[in-house]
Amino acid sequence: MSDDAGLQALREAARLSPDNLPLRRHLAGQLLAGGYLADAEAEFRGALALAPRDAELTAGLAEAFIRQSAHGAALAALEPLLDTPGHPPVLGVLAARALLGEGDPAQAARRYQEAVSRDPSVGDADLAARLAPPPPPPPPQAAPHAGPHAGPHAAPAPAYHAPSPGPADRATAEVEHSQVSFADVAGMEAVKEALRVKLLLPLQQPELFAAFGKRAGGGVLLYGPPGAGKTHLARAAAGELGAKFVNVGLADILDMYIGSSERNLRATFDLARRNRPCVLFFDEVDALAARRSDMRQAHTRQLVNQFLAELDGVDEHANEGVLVLAATNAPWYVDPAFRRPGRFDQPVLVPPPDAAARAAILRILCRDKPLAEMDYDAVARVTDHFVGADLKGLVDRAVEAKLQQSISAGRPIPLTTPDLLAAAQTIRPTAVHEWMATARNYVMHANDSGAWDELLPWVKGKR
Ligand code: ADP
Repeated sequence: MSDDAGLQALREAARLSPDNLPLRRHLAGQLLAGGYLADAEAEFRGALALAPRDAELTAGLAEAFIRQSAHGAALAALEPLLDTPGHPPVLGVLAARALLGEGDPAQAARRYQEAVSRDPSVGDADLAARLAPPPPPPPPQAAPHAGPHAGPHAAPAPAYHAPSPGPADRATAEVEHSQVSFADVAGMEAVKEALRVKLLLPLQQPELFAAFGKRAGGGVLLYGPPGAGKTHLARAAAGELGAKFVNVGLADILDMYIGSSERNLRATFDLARRNRPCVLFFDEVDALAARRSDMRQAHTRQLVNQFLAELDGVDEHANEGVLVLAATNAPWYVDPAFRRPGRFDQPVLVPPPDAAARAAILRILCRDKPLAEMDYDAVARVTDHFVGADLKGLVDRAVEAKLQQSISAGRPIPLTTPDLLAAAQTIRPTAVHEWMATARNYVMHANDSGAWDELLPWVKGKR
C-alpha cells in the first residue's frame, strides 16, 4: 500500500471513529510527517478536543503551526502548558522556534536554554546555531533563570519588564517615538504608497476624504514572510507621520485568565488614544485564531468581538488620530470578521525582497558604518532567499568581525564587500521557501474571496 493510500485509509478510519483518540493521534502524527500541514493542524485540534492539554498533541499542533509560519498561533497554543510547572522540555524548544520565527532571538534563547538545562536530549543543534548568544551578564545578581517554574506566573518575563503584579498588567505596552521614516525602508514602493493612501493622506488631508464621504479609520493588515519588514514598516509609518508608536504582540495580551485579555485590549487602545496621533501596531494577530484549539471558543469569540469593537470605535471620533496596523505571517488564520469593510479590508503584502531591494536594504543597514567602496549588488546576488531580518543579521555579523579586527589594530578598519560576502556564508536564512509553499497552498485552494490575489504572482514564481 502506498503512503497516500495508507493515509487515506487512516483518514477514513478516523472519520468513522471520531472518538478514537489513539487513532486520531496517530493520523495527526502521520499527516504532520507527510507534510500535510493544514490537515495535520485540523486533526491535532480535533484530537485536542478529546484530550485537552495533552502535551504530545499540543506539541504536534505547535509544530504544524510553526511549519506554516504561524508563529504567534504556535505560541498561543503552547502557552497554557508552558505556564505549567514540570511541562515537557520539548515544548520549550518548540516555543524557542516560534519565538525565533517571531523575530525574538533573545527570548528564544532563554526558552531554549531552559529546556535543554532540564533535558539535554531535546537539544537541536541547528536551532541553537540560529539563536542569539546569551546576553553578557551585566550586574552580577542577574543570573539567568532556569529550572522548573514555581507557579503559573513564574514563566520568565522579558528582562525589560518590572515584576508583574498580576495578569491584567502583563501586557503593558510602551509608547515609542519612532526614529525611522519611509526613507529608512528600502524598496517596497508599492507598499509604502498603499500605506500613504490608507493611513497618511486621510490624516494629512481630511477635507479631501470628507468630500468623498470617507472617514479615516479601520486598519491595515500587513502580511508576508517572517522578517520581511512588517514591524519596520509600521514603525516607519509612525515616523513618517510624526506619530507615536505603540507595538503590541497580540500573544502578550491573550492570557489564561478569562476577562483579563479584554482588560488588556481596552487598556492598549486607551493608551494609543491618549497619545494621538499614534500608530497602534498589533503583531501576531493570528494568535487570536489559535485560541480556537483550546476549547474556549466562546472566549475567543468574545475577544475577537472586543478587538473589533475597539477598532470600530464606540463613536466616530473614538479612534481619530489612531492608526491601527496589524501584522501576521499567517493571514489565512486571521478571522474573516477582521476583513469586513471598514476594518482590515485590504490586506497589504510585504513581500520578500528581490535583488534590487536586498541591495537597497544592505545600503541602509551599512550607511552609518566606516565603509570601503561597496558593491551591494554583488552581495544581493548571493543572498537570494534572504529577507530583511537575515540581511540585518549578516551586517551585524560582519560588523562584529570588523570590530574585533579594529580593536586588534587599534584603529577603525572599514567594512568591505568581501566582509559582507563572508558573513553571508555564515547566515542560515529564514525559511521563505516554506512560507511560500504554505502561501501557495492557500492562494490556490482557499482564495475564494480573492483576498490573497496580491500573492498570486509571487507564489507562481513570476516575481
Ligand atoms: P517582520 O516584522 O516582518 O518579521 P521586521 O520588521 O522585524 O520583520 O524586520 C527585521 C529587520 O530587518 C528590521 O528591523 C530592519 O532592520 C530590517 N529590514 C527589513 N526590511 C527592511 C527594509 N525594506 N529596509 C530596511 N531594513 C529592513
